[in-house]
Amino acid sequence: MLDNFNYNDNEYLSGRSRRNMTGDCESCFGLCCVALPFTASADFAVDKKAGQPCQNLQTDFRCGVHTNLRQLGFRGCTVYDCFGAGQKVSQATYGGRDWRQAPKTARQMFEVFYVMKQLHELIWYLTEALSLREARPVHDELSSALDETERLTDLSPDSLMDLDAAAHRAEVNKLLLRTSELVREEALRKLKSRPGNRKSYGRGADLIGAKLRGADLRAANLRGAYLIAADLRGADLRAADLIGADFRDADLRGADLTGSLFLTQAQLNAAKGDARTKLPPVLTRPAHWSA
Ligand code: SF4
Repeated sequence: MLDNFNYNDNEYLSGRSRRNMTGDCESCFGLCCVALPFTASADFAVDKKAGQPCQNLQTDFRCGVHTNLRQLGFRGCTVYDCFGAGQKVSQATYGGRDWRQAPKTARQMFEVFYVMKQLHELIWYLTEALSLREARPVHDELSSALDETERLTDLSPDSLMDLDAAAHRAEVNKLLLRTSELVREEALRKLKSRPGNRKSYGRGADLIGAKLRGADLRAANLRGAYLIAADLRGADLRAADLIGADFRDADLRGADLTGSLFLTQAQLNAAKGDARTKLPPVLTRPAHWSA
């Protein structure tokens, strides 16, 4: 069993913290509320173009309906997480000068925010990978990639605009994939189960609405899987690779996500869960989940 298998609660191993990888709206110029486009849907009550301030954004960059977002049809705002890119762009890249003070740089700031969000997301994943004992064979490469990604976040606005973020992401993804293989192979060994004996879903699996209640998904490859509205009540997802999996309206009540790989707060925020759902220690139980 996996009882003694501590996957990603060993952040001390890397000596790196993910504390700065959480959005700090107080230090941000409301960038996600301006830069991102919305389409009227179940997640957003209105249409909004990229670069257009949301109708609810106040002059102090706070949300005027923050305490009532779900009731007013802005569920998507309670799901989104910038991984700390907003405050980095606002306070570091642009030195605290906001897009209202400097409207000529506004468009550039919004585009830089997109780039920074990608870099911060990669830092989140790389820091997690470095915390995993099973990934030790690639720790040197992971550490170099983390150093390089952190260096990129300190580039000037012009340099960030010129950055080929997709290419950097592709290189980092190779390391994350190798990390996933190392961790899941070790988990399967401990389970005394060969990969061929377990149900394999693979990258981008279509599991929309799937009935997976109580399923044994330990060490499963669910990278980019479509788990929209899937019934995952009581499922065991320890050591499962969940990078990029779409959990919108997935039912995670009673599921075990401890030791899952590359799970983010935004994925949790998009799902349903309850007090029995077991979470990785670095993530927070969403306020809208049931008791
Ligand atoms: S509703 Fe509030 S949180 Fe959502 S985009 Fe508008 S201002 Fe931002």
